[in-house]
Amino acid sequence: MAVLSIRMIGDPVLRTPAVEVTEYGHELARLVQNMLETMHSVRGAGLAAPQVGVGLRVFTYAVDGAEGHVVNPELLSAEGVQNDDQEGCLSVPGIGFALPRAELVQLRGFDVTGQPMQLEAEGMLARCFQHESDHLDGRLYIDRLQGDDRRAAMRAIRHSQYNAVTTDTLTKRSSSVGSVFGIGGPSSGRRRTGA
Ligand code: ZN
Repeated sequence: MAVLSIRMIGDPVLRTPAVEVTEYGHELARLVQNMLETMHSVRGAGLAAPQVGVGLRVFTYAVDGAEGHVVNPELLSAEGVQNDDQEGCLSVPGIGFALPRAELVQLRGFDVTGQPMQLEAEGMLARCFQHESDHLDGRLYIDRLQGDDRRAAMRAIRHSQYNAVTTDTLTKRSSSVGSVFGIGGPSSGRRRTGA
């Protein structure tokens, strides 16, 4: 297994829709294992394959004890609204914003061996599934911000120091510097950050 390097905003792979997995085998298993290890190494709540430079529809997650991976995920339904939790992204470090997301989602996909699975999630896990599904479509959560939050995010990203922030984050990740996915939730403290 290996910890992979996480691609930062500005990398075209983050803006390229990922393609469906068609081969279930050793390569896919190794990718999922490496993504899990990478996600844990930065205390991430989730990680999508494009974030490690692989344009396949795969993501991993670890939220409040729920942990796993999904291959070729498809959101089946989304209900309700959650507004309160901050969302951040491992590929857009150093900033986080409250972003409305559906409160309850149903997701289907496959495990690493090709077995179909269906998952239901609420709250932070539902937020994670929506965030990671966006990544697979080449979309970042900051694209969904509006008004002052959007302007603030764009300002932060365009700021001349932002490249220094991403470099600093890459070097300090192992000491769990991250963005602020989930600050203030019921199990904050050592809660995972970023996705
Ligand atoms: Zn992300």
